[in-house]
Amino acid sequence: MKYYSTNNSDLRVSFQDAVFHSLPQDKGLYMPENIPQLDPYFIRNIQQYSFQEIAFTIAKAVIGTDIPENDLKRIVYDAIDFDAPVKFLSPEAAVLELFHGPSFAFKDFGARFMSRIMGYFSKDGDQLLDVLVATSGDTGGAVALGFLGVEGTRVTILYPKGKVSKVQEDQLTKNGNNIRALEVNGSFDDCQALVKQAFNDPLLNKELRLTSANSINIARLLPQTFYYFWAYAQLRAQGMKEVVFAVPSGNFGNIGAGLLAYKMGLPVHHFVAGTNVNDTVPRFLETGEYDPRSSKQTISNAMDVGNPSNWVRILDMFGEDRESLKELLSSYAFDDEETKAGMQELYEEFKYVACPHTAIAYLAAKAYRKVHPGEYASVFLSTAHPCKFPEAIAEEIYKDVKFPKGAEDWAGKEKQVTELDVNYEDFRSYLLHLPRHRKFVEKL
Ligand SMILES: *Cc1c(COP(=O)(O)O)cnc(C)c1O
Repeated sequence: MKYYSTNNSDLRVSFQDAVFHSLPQDKGLYMPENIPQLDPYFIRNIQQYSFQEIAFTIAKAVIGTDIPENDLKRIVYDAIDFDAPVKFLSPEAAVLELFHGPSFAFKDFGARFMSRIMGYFSKDGDQLLDVLVATSGDTGGAVALGFLGVEGTRVTILYPKGKVSKVQEDQLTKNGNNIRALEVNGSFDDCQALVKQAFNDPLLNKELRLTSANSINIARLLPQTFYYFWAYAQLRAQGMKEVVFAVPSGNFGNIGAGLLAYKMGLPVHHFVAGTNVNDTVPRFLETGEYDPRSSKQTISNAMDVGNPSNWVRILDMFGEDRESLKELLSSYAFDDEETKAGMQELYEEFKYVACPHTAIAYLAAKAYRKVHPGEYASVFLSTAHPCKFPEAIAEEIYKDVKFPKGAEDWAGKEKQVTELDVNYEDFRSYLLHLPRHRKFVEKL
């Protein structure tokens, strides 16, 4: 399967090129040159398949022969080795829990899949693949744990000192092996600027094989379609036919994958994007004017995005036509007070402890049902385990958080981190002093 840039459909590259160069030169985003249509027989009988079987079927359709079937199967089965269960809170509302992976957030799906794809395409070279990533929390943990132990790869994570939660910091700094953490005396924007400068540095690019683990990478988007099909399979197994998905949205990658799944043939009645006060998309759907603003800080901070980077993909799938998009997608924004009330309501009515992002999806599902009552299941996506957000959740709710298996393991591990000032020369020198040759590194 070839991939084209949303800014120039004549520009076609291989899957491998799209993976290693997240961004086309023309600043568009890569999309598959034709969206594969899944076999209607497969969809009708989807409840007979396992999550991994479903994931593999989709991966084969959208990647094609670029990776031989047996290798692709190994990659998919290895990446998707944890569940995404649908749990009903009431007869008409269910939560799709996407936080059962190693970093307790849905970004594990994208990061684990991408790491194995990159490892696969780098298996023959002599040089290590150096993945650079700046994080404000969730992305870094998923990328660190996704790439941990993947042969031929090494990850350097930059995060702002004192600005990530305890669980997040553990996930960034306690891995060792092929993962390195740099604690930057600055902001997330400083971290991002350092990484960006490194990617544009000719000397570094000559000496190292640099790549980004950016959220717009096509290899992160594709595996996020898997769980929409798997959720549908679980609903079908319970005899439900119509589904509305509500998705807490920041960069709109998650819901973009849902819309891609729909385009592949998944029967979905409607999608609802919940946002925090960073409401560029709900305003666009309402007014037709795309007017991005600089991001505002909220308690659902993984969604603090003023100009969602995946939005162009969504417009592209709908031929830039807002009217046809609106038939399938609604969007509602909620402020921090509403988000807190949503967490409270989930806790009081259903004894369900949710992170703030998940609460926004819950509120969005409810808002849609209020205007469009009907016989369908509202499935809201839970994007992170609440244990990752102690500051955002009221104490009397947080005390009921059950830490997932694996969370306690971090306590016994040693933090390994290098401090870095916001100084590009220091960062560059750090990178240039890393061992180069993969054989040399593997012997260490
Ligand atoms: C990244 C993230 C989101 C936003 O997902 P997008 O794909 O950027 O829309 C929502 N919730 C959590 C917990 C996240 O980490």
